Amino acid sequence: MVMLPKPKKNRTIYFDNASTTCIDQKVLTTMKPVLQAVYANPSSLHKEGKKAAAELEKSRKEIAKHCNALAENIIFTAGGTESDNLAIYGLAKATINSGKKHIITTAIEHHAVLNPVEDLAKKQGYTITSIEPNGSGLIDVETVIKAITPSTVLISIGYANNEIGSIAPIAEIGRKILQYRKQNNTPYPYFHTAACQATNYLDLDVEKLHVDLMTISASKIYGPKGIGLLYVRRGVPIEPVILGGGQESGLRSGTENVAAAVGFAKALSMARNIKEKEIKHTRELANYLWQKLKKNISAISLNGPEIGDQRLPNNLNVAFAGLENEALLLYLSEYGVMCSAGSACSSRTLETSHVLRAIGKSDEEGRSSIRFSFGKYNTKKEID
Ligand SMILES: *Cc1c(COP(=O)(O)O)cnc(C)c1O
Repeated sequence: MVMLPKPKKNRTIYFDNASTTCIDQKVLTTMKPVLQAVYANPSSLHKEGKKAAAELEKSRKEIAKHCNALAENIIFTAGGTESDNLAIYGLAKATINSGKKHIITTAIEHHAVLNPVEDLAKKQGYTITSIEPNGSGLIDVETVIKAITPSTVLISIGYANNEIGSIAPIAEIGRKILQYRKQNNTPYPYFHTAACQATNYLDLDVEKLHVDLMTISASKIYGPKGIGLLYVRRGVPIEPVILGGGQESGLRSGTENVAAAVGFAKALSMARNIKEKEIKHTRELANYLWQKLKKNISAISLNGPEIGDQRLPNNLNVAFAGLENEALLLYLSEYGVMCSAGSACSSRTLETSHVLRAIGKSDEEGRSSIRFSFGKYNTKKEID
C-alpha cells in the first residue's frame, strides 16, 4: 500500500484554469480607480457620463485591436454564455423570415452553444446537423462543408474544446464557407466561433479566421468575471435578446460595466503580449505532469489529441481506469489540488461528459476522467 502524506489544509494548487482564472493583480489595479471614481452611467450626457463613456470606448478600441476588428463590432455582454446566446438566438431572430432553419454545430460544443441550438430545434422547428469529431476530438473541415444546405443559416463551432483541448481548424472552415457563399451567391451560412478557451493561446484575427461572430469571456484570461464580448461583423443580421435602453448599438441593453470593460481590455492586452511564452510554459507543465503520471500509474490514458499543435497547451485530460473521478477530485481537493471532472459547468450533473462520449469513451472511462488545466501562475514545483 502506498502511504500518502497528510492533507495540507492551507495549500492551494490551482489546476482548473479552464473553468476560470484568478484575476491578475495588474488587471485589478487598472479596475480599482474606475470602480471607485468612474461611477456615472456611460449613456448620461453630463461630463461624468462622458468620462465613463470614454473609458468604455477606450477599452472597446483596445480589445478590437487584438481581434483585428473595428471597435463598433465589439458588443460587451455579461460573459461567454450570454455572447453565445446572443449569437445564436440573435441571428435566428433576425433571419426568421429567410426560411432558413438549419444549423450546423458539433457534438462537443459547450452547453452555452448546445442548449440554445437544441432549444431552437425543439421550440422553433430548426433542424440540426451535429458534426461528430474523430476519436481525438478533431473536426474535419470537409465534413462541415458537405453538411451545408441551402437552408443552413448558421455554423457554430468552438475554437478549442474546454474539456479535452482539441483545436478546430476555424480559419480553414471559415475560408471554405466564404468559397461556398461566393459560388452560390449568398450571404449564408453565417459562421460563429466560441473562442473562450482559445483566447490566451490562439490567433484571434477575425479576418484570418473568416468568422462573422466570435465569443470571448474575460473570466478565462485573468480578467474579471461577468463580462464577455461578441464580435459581430458588419452586415451580419442580428437582433438583441436583451431589450431595454438600447446600449451596445442596440444589441445588448443595460448599463455597461465600465470597470469590468477596462479590466477586460487590460487582461486581453496582457494575454496577447505573453502568448508565445504561455504556450511554451503551459505545454511544458502539461507534458511534465503527463510524463510523471505515465511513469507511476499504468492504467491511465490521455483523452483528446496528443500533446502538440492540435491541443490547447494548458489542457491535460486523463482517464484513471477504475477510479471514480468525483471521488478523486474531492480527494485531490483535500490535498489542496483543484481540478475538474469534465467541465465545471456540468459538474452539477452526474452524467458522463457529452464530449468524452462523442470521442467514443464509455461511461466508465468518462466517469474516471479528470481535467487538469494550467495557467501562467502554475509551476513544476506544484506538479511535484
Ligand atoms: C467558459 C466558456 C463559456 C462560458 O463563458 P462564461 O463567461 O462562463 O459564461 C462558453 N464556452 C466555452 C467554450 C467556455 O470555455
